Amino acid sequence: MRPSSEFAVSLRFHGDLAFFLKKASLGAEVVRLLGEKTSVKDVIESCGVPHPEVDLILCDHVPSGFEFQLTHQAAVDAYPVSVPLHFHPAQRLQRRDLRRFVLDGHLGKLARDLRLLGIDTAYTNDADDLLLVRIASEEDRALLTRDRRLLMRSAIRDGYCPRSDVPEEQTVEVIRRFDLASAIQPFTRCLRCNGLLEHVEKDAVNSRLEPLTKIFYADFRRCAGCSHVYWPGSHFARLEARIARIYAASTLEPPLGS
Ligand SMILES: [Zn+2]
Repeated sequence: MRPSSEFAVSLRFHGDLAFFLKKASLGAEVVRLLGEKTSVKDVIESCGVPHPEVDLILCDHVPSGFEFQLTHQAAVDAYPVSVPLHFHPAQRLQRRDLRRFVLDGHLGKLARDLRLLGIDTAYTNDADDLLLVRIASEEDRALLTRDRRLLMRSAIRDGYCPRSDVPEEQTVEVIRRFDLASAIQPFTRCLRCNGLLEHVEKDAVNSRLEPLTKIFYADFRRCAGCSHVYWPGSHFARLEARIARIYAASTLEPPLGS
């Protein structure tokens, strides 16, 4: 016999939150039987959906915070950030103004894309989970990772799990999720270390240039962090084409002058 205190909570995951559910649950409600009072956050995460992905929770049609305690039978609706803002605008749970990120080691190409677009992106390919959580917390960065368990850590306030495993599609997802259109400034950050690039006179870097580079190029930028020197060389057209594809897929207007 079930204990008399046991109660059922039915959860419906809206929008692309279904991505996180087990295949058998796709498009359907998930029902959880609880034996004691439990926070709605814990019940949602027990279904595989990390809390940074959930922007609005309705418990029996009433907006609730993550810490709301479920004590009896209830219907929970969980919505992603993409749900239009006019729907319970004052009860949204995720920040929309975050412009800084830390990426897990598996997302190196996404990190490079974000830096190419001028987005502040902390990344090393060998950072362990503890370091990622610490950087996210201490530097107030959103964690980008495909590790759902990592996103569920209580110390993680903001984050996102790219749905696609194609780097360029991941970049578009992140631009949309964090509404980065106004923050994009291509070719202003170092692809190696995330440092800001500053214009530098050719004379200042002349000794570090190959002979043909000295002849053909006049516009140079240097990283304020690692001193790497950049110029619009043969790889530049490829990067510009990549940026143009990202803009097109994000339905962004290209920046003036690019
Ligand atoms: Zn650098």
